[in-house]
Amino acid sequence: MLFSHLLPDQVQDVLDALPTPVFFKDRHGVYKGCNRAFARLIGRRRREIVGLTVFDISPEEYAKSHFDADAALMRSGGEQRYEAQIKRCDGERRHVVFHKAALYDAQGELSGIVGTILDITERKALEVQLADMAERDALTCLFNRRAILAHLEALHRDRRQASQSLCLMMCDVDHFKRINDRHGHAKGDEVLRQVAHLLSGKLRDGDRVGRIGGEEFLIVLASADLEDARQVAERLRQQVADLSITCAEGARLEVTISIGVARSLHQDEDWADVIARADAGLYAAKRAGRDKVIVADAHMLPANHKDWHQA
Ligand code: GH3
Ligand code: MG
Ligand code: MG
Repeated sequence: MLFSHLLPDQVQDVLDALPTPVFFKDRHGVYKGCNRAFARLIGRRRREIVGLTVFDISPEEYAKSHFDADAALMRSGGEQRYEAQIKRCDGERRHVVFHKAALYDAQGELSGIVGTILDITERKALEVQLADMAERDALTCLFNRRAILAHLEALHRDRRQASQSLCLMMCDVDHFKRINDRHGHAKGDEVLRQVAHLLSGKLRDGDRVGRIGGEEFLIVLASADLEDARQVAERLRQQVADLSITCAEGARLEVTISIGVARSLHQDEDWADVIARADAGLYAAKRAGRDKVIVADAHMLPANHKDWHQA
């Protein structure tokens, strides 16, 4: 045995020198020992841990999952590794990886478990941040094309299963090329940011907006009420027209958007057909003179044949 020449006190010293939290429990889940790093992680002294169970040192919902995992390990034997959350004594939650093994006595009888804990809270936060960045458009911070189309696809699938519909708004800034040409690309970018801010700021819970092209935005509404969607679109159109963005010389820029609105129709309609109809509504709004909202009817055909499946 590695520690056979050490006295129990010395084993404790060795464990306390380890930066990795270590604990061990008997077959009934009672802590028989731990090192200093474990006590620090939990936020208690060792003597406030040893002799107690996880139910005494963690809130019920956390303790239950740790206890169930220990019980599963004691049934199966061998090792166990999993990610979980723990709640420290002061209420702070930490993301951790448990790595545990079953312990046996000299007769080969199960005597308990031993475990280590790796604190991955900072790495987890970074993962969430990276995942969020991968879904966002860098200029406007809205969802990017891939993310908003993936959301549409998933929501459409859910709605179909529940025999319900959703509504879409396809928005496009009018004569945006002119804004770029007259006032420069940086001013164009500012217009996009302001329009994006306005669109995202006026949505209700469950609704999402994404930038799907240069000056095009797709809004996915969780509500299935087409008249309601038309009114929301009309309000957004008006609010964009009222935006007060000035050019370098101080004059107010005229910024307007056109919007095509569509509702998913029936059970087996593909999500790409709904977006194509909203796009057809947008095209009709452009032809009607821009700065307009047009609700696409069931037979409206898209002006072109974009393949929306190829995000
Ligand atoms: P319409 O009213 O028919 O929509 O006309 P439009 O000028 O808005 O449409 P068009 O498609 O001709 O021009 C879109 C322009 O948007 C062209 C492109 O250079 C510009 N654009 C695309 N992405 C960006 C961007 O990120 N920043 C800026 N400033 N301009 C962009
Ligand atoms: Mg445009
Ligand atoms: Mg466009």
